[in-house]
Amino acid sequence: MPEAKVHCSRKRGRGLHPWVFSNEVLRVEGDPEPGDAVLVFDRKRFLGSAVYNPHSLIALRLFSPDERELDLEFIQARLSAAAERRKADLPGESDYRLAFGEADGLPGLVVDRYGEHYVVQVYSLGLERRLDAVTRALVDRFGPKSIFEKNDFRLRDPEGLERRQGVLYGTAGERVVIAENGARFEVDIVHGNKTGYFFDQRLTRQRVRRLARGRAFLDVFSYTGGFAVNAALGGAKRVLAVDSSAAACGIGATNAELNGVTDRCEFHVEEAFRFLKRLGTKPGEFDMICLDPPSFIKSRRERQGGLQGYRTINSLAMRALAPGGMLVSCSCSHHLFWQDMLDMLARAAQDAGRSFVITERTTQGPDHPVLLSMPETEYLRCFFLRVV
Ligand code: SAH
Repeated sequence: MPEAKVHCSRKRGRGLHPWVFSNEVLRVEGDPEPGDAVLVFDRKRFLGSAVYNPHSLIALRLFSPDERELDLEFIQARLSAAAERRKADLPGESDYRLAFGEADGLPGLVVDRYGEHYVVQVYSLGLERRLDAVTRALVDRFGPKSIFEKNDFRLRDPEGLERRQGVLYGTAGERVVIAENGARFEVDIVHGNKTGYFFDQRLTRQRVRRLARGRAFLDVFSYTGGFAVNAALGGAKRVLAVDSSAAACGIGATNAELNGVTDRCEFHVEEAFRFLKRLGTKPGEFDMICLDPPSFIKSRRERQGGLQGYRTINSLAMRALAPGGMLVSCSCSHHLFWQDMLDMLARAAQDAGRSFVITERTTQGPDHPVLLSMPETEYLRCFFLRVV
C-alpha cells in the first residue's frame, strides 16, 4: 500500500479530473520517491491513489479512487479491462489503440496493438518506472510476438523522461500489415510517425469511404494514405494524396497496392501549403478534399499562429473545391475546441467567398475514449462541409 500522503487544495470545479497540479499541492507527509504511489487528500477528504512526480507541473496523476499500489496486478487488470472494451466497441478488429492513458485508467500509458505486435508510449514518470511491469503484463495477458517502445516524443520532456526507442520484448516486426474496417495498411513501427499508424481517424475514414463514390478525391497530409485508400475503396474515380514525407508516400503506394486500388491512387510528395496554393483560387477538378494536418497548436503560445495556419489551408481548399464539393477538415490540436474550429472555418469560408453547410462532425474512435472528467482526452475534431 502507498504510505506517503500528499495534501492538496484543488481549484474548485475540477471534479474527478485525474490530475493535481504542483501549485495545488500543500504538503507532503512521508518521503515519497519520484514516481511512487501516494495517497492524495483534498482539504482532508481522501481523493485516491496517485503517482507522484515532484518535478512535473502535473504533480499527481490519480489512478484509483481506492488505497492501492500501482503494481503488476493492477496494470494487468486495467489492460484486461481495456481489451474487453475494445472487443465490445470494435467487434472483429484486431488492430487498435489498446490503452489510451488516463481514459483507460493508466495515466501516461499508450499501447497500440498491431495484431501480435505491440507498441508502447509512456509519458508519466509513474508508468516509466513500471515499464517492466507493463511489458510483463502485456506478455502474460496477450502473448505478443513483440513489444516496441516508441518513447522518442516531446511530451516526455516535462516529466523529465529521456527520449528513446527500442525493443522491449521479442523481435520487433518492423513492418506489419494491419486491417481497419477491412482496409489493409502497412505500418512501419520503427520509422513511422508516432507509433506508426493513426488509429484515431477510423470513424472519419469510414465516413469518407461511404461518401467518396464517383468523386475526385484529394487527401492532403495523407501520411500513409488512410483517407486516400478508403476513398478509393469507396469508389472514388480518382485519388491524389499529398504529403511532405517521401517515406510516408512510399508506404501509401504500397497500401494502395495492398487494397487493389493502384489504378486510381497517386501519391505526391510536396509541402501542403505550397501544393494548395498551386491548386489555384478557382474551383477545380477535386470535388472532395480532406485536410488532416499535424497539430498546428501544440501549446497555448502557438494559438494565434496555429489558427492562422488552419485558416489558410482551409480557405485554399475551399476555393479549389469543385461546385457541390465536400471538404473534410480535421484538427488534432487539444487547444482547438469545437467552437474555435467552427469560428476558424467560418472565417476561412469568408476568405474563400463561398458558402457551406455542415453535414456532419466526427471525432476520435472508441479506441481513443474521452474521459468525461478530463476534457484533454478529446482532441480530434472533424467537420464535413458541403459547398452550397
Ligand atoms: N491523414 C493521415 C494522418 C496525417 S498525419 C492518416 O489518415 O493516416 C500528418 C501528416 O502531415 C504526416 O504524414 C506529415 O508527414 C505530414 N505533414 C506535416 N507537415 C506537412 C507539410 N507542411 N506539408 C505536407 N505534409 C506535412
